[in-house]
Amino acid sequence: MSTDATKKLVYVANWKMNMPAIQSTEWFAKHYEALSELGRTERIVICPTVPALFPLYSMILAKEQQTIMLGAQDCSVHAGGPFTGQIAAEDLKAIGAQFCILGHSESRTLLADTSITVARKCARALEHYMLPIVCIGETAQERAAGNTLEVLEGQLEPVLKILTETMAPMNFIAYEPVWAIGSGVTPTPEEIAAVFDHLKNLIPANLPGLHLLYGGSVTSKNAPELKKIALLSGFLVGNASLDFQEFKKIVEC
Ligand code: PEP
Repeated sequence: MSTDATKKLVYVANWKMNMPAIQSTEWFAKHYEALSELGRTERIVICPTVPALFPLYSMILAKEQQTIMLGAQDCSVHAGGPFTGQIAAEDLKAIGAQFCILGHSESRTLLADTSITVARKCARALEHYMLPIVCIGETAQERAAGNTLEVLEGQLEPVLKILTETMAPMNFIAYEPVWAIGSGVTPTPEEIAAVFDHLKNLIPANLPGLHLLYGGSVTSKNAPELKKIALLSGFLVGNASLDFQEFKKIVEC
């Protein structure tokens, strides 16, 4: 592991459905200037709920300083048509999402997303120039059985096919162990580094702009150690991103 002070990290705030859109908009307005300052030196991506995307995007468009980027938390596998309740990648892009989190463990378990579905969603996002942030991660049982790498490989395989075919300019893979999400427990930096090394070997060397992110119980306390992981390009931050001061500390530590 090594620290490269010149490396610009990506901080993806996954707000999930934790704040109503009005509260998200107020949060964003209150912290806009400070968040923009963070965005001058690091890459800041805020992923609110869909109803909050356009209000946040409008705020960005109205400002001179536009260093904050937005992302969606999912998109439909379909381009359009009779799919009640779904939201197309095209619409998410139109209302400000430059990124799209895909394959989050909550979507895999609660919405039955398979790795094939995640790969198809990637294709949809890329068609509309949204950059997918693909989440992969093993459960506590899979880890206990020693199957972590096998599980990650299985989740990544269909996605890599799409990413290689489309040759997206930047590729974001987030390693999010399911057991670390919202639990206050993380793998050790050495364990994450070993997973990253393995992923790097699986990913075709000619895949442009590969970014490996870590997500799961990141806080300002553990971020300094995690930032020493050589292949780390940034974090996906859930709970800790709802508290601006804590999020700022994670970025600045
Ligand atoms: C997440 O669910 O993407 C996440 C990183 O959550 P938390 O930081 O709360 O563990």
